[in-house]
Amino acid sequence: MLHRKLKILYLEDVPLDAELVISKLISEGLEMEIDLVSTEKGFVDFLSGNKYDLILSDYNLPMYDGMTALRQVQKVCSEVPFICISGTIGEDLAVELLKEGAADYVLKDRLERLPYAIRRALNEVEEKNARKVAETELKKLSKAVENSPVSICITDKNGLIEYANPRFYEMSGYTVEEVVGNKTAILRSGLMYKGLYKDMWVTILSGKIWKGELINKNSNGEIYWVNKSISSITDAEGQIIHFVSVDEDITEKKRSEEELISAKERAEESDRLKSSFLANMSHEIRTPLNSIIGFSELLTDPDFDQERKLGFVSVIIENGNNLLTIINDILDISRLAAGKVRVHNTFLSVPQLIFGIQKELVFKAREKGIELIATLENQNDEVMFESDADRLKQIFYNLINNAIKFTESGYVEVKYTVKEKTILFAVKDTGIGIPHDFQEKIFHEFIQVESSLSRKHGGNGLGLSITKNLVELLKGKIWVESEPGNGSTFYFELPYPRVDMK
Ligand code: ADP
Repeated sequence: MLHRKLKILYLEDVPLDAELVISKLISEGLEMEIDLVSTEKGFVDFLSGNKYDLILSDYNLPMYDGMTALRQVQKVCSEVPFICISGTIGEDLAVELLKEGAADYVLKDRLERLPYAIRRALNEVEEKNARKVAETELKKLSKAVENSPVSICITDKNGLIEYANPRFYEMSGYTVEEVVGNKTAILRSGLMYKGLYKDMWVTILSGKIWKGELINKNSNGEIYWVNKSISSITDAEGQIIHFVSVDEDITEKKRSEEELISAKERAEESDRLKSSFLANMSHEIRTPLNSIIGFSELLTDPDFDQERKLGFVSVIIENGNNLLTIINDILDISRLAAGKVRVHNTFLSVPQLIFGIQKELVFKAREKGIELIATLENQNDEVMFESDADRLKQIFYNLINNAIKFTESGYVEVKYTVKEKTILFAVKDTGIGIPHDFQEKIFHEFIQVESSLSRKHGGNGLGLSITKNLVELLKGKIWVESEPGNGSTFYFELPYPRVDMK
């Protein structure tokens, strides 16, 4: 019955009785090592110096009794089963012994019960120990679940939540009342494809583990990413009784992944743009330079008369100016990118500024057969505001030059509207317009709508990027409204703090 040698302490003062009991145990095939004692002192000494699996004790001894012995055992090693073997002691005393913690009592004239009583007592001890181990394990596990940095949630087989750990509440923002008894569907964001949850159920109902990344929604309606794993718990018959879902918050990881991808895309785009810019730039710089060098050489040729040579000089001057514009643009964009451009504000009259610009550019427009119109909001209104005149002029020049460049007939109009806290400026043209998918992009460096057309009109794709940077330097914003084929209107809005002059 038992596979190990039992160590037994046996208290008995009648040698014959002891012999009877020991023979009974031997006949049962019990392997044992017995310390037989007959006095209180012997009992106490052996008890304190050894570790026993079982204690057997007579009840009536000279100057000593089984109850006192039991109490001493309870103090020293209460886990060791104590069986009292005695003559008739009466029912009350027997009950008293059991109450005090004895595992059993066996009458000397019913010794055949002893092996059964021992087996039962030892089994109980084993079960108790196993229970203790299981309880410790359980405590360890529940502590791990409670303190887990990942969210853990246990549902019944229908998906109704029975338990969630503190991290679950932290991540979801819900309270125990809102969670327990509810479905995990409360966390659905509506951003996952429809079939996903069906796939998930099919997988877990078949007893397999489902793993995947999901977008959840917390109680505030904010979304968060989780790396989820759901597995089933089955009963002894293999029937699913629970599901355990473990969610790791990977929102930050996802965010940095996305940032990395978009940074990579931006870097590739910028690389591509820079290569095409360099190709374009070398063309833009070489074309005027070739003309300048070519026509300068012709100037030294005595075959050409003075009139022809004056013609060459004007070509040289025009190309020199083009080159200067390109170089200025490159310098501007690098200074703006490096944050080296400073703003020098002065008080300006808006009508004066606009008329001044119109006067300077009107001839250029007329050369192309188009009108450059300046429209004042109110002829008598002297609108003064504080800004950087040079930067403002540069913005207007870029926008008006583009408008003239991309308009074959009609007009270019410059106007403004004074609003509550801003002034809205507009440069409108009746030109070729801008395709919708380019209306945002053209403000980026080196972007031109279509290479062949831009080539026809010249330019380097830097003007609008410089303009946008300048508008932002003046704390404003710029945008375009355009219908391809029907002209464009570039708007820019600058702050207009109304100063109380009184
Ligand atoms: P570019 O030197 O090429 O003109 P910009 O940055 O000033 O460089 O303009 C970028 C592109 O935006 C132009 O090449 C052109 O395709 C488009 N664009 C700018 N202004 C206009 C306009 N008024 N009408 C039509 N297209 C325009």
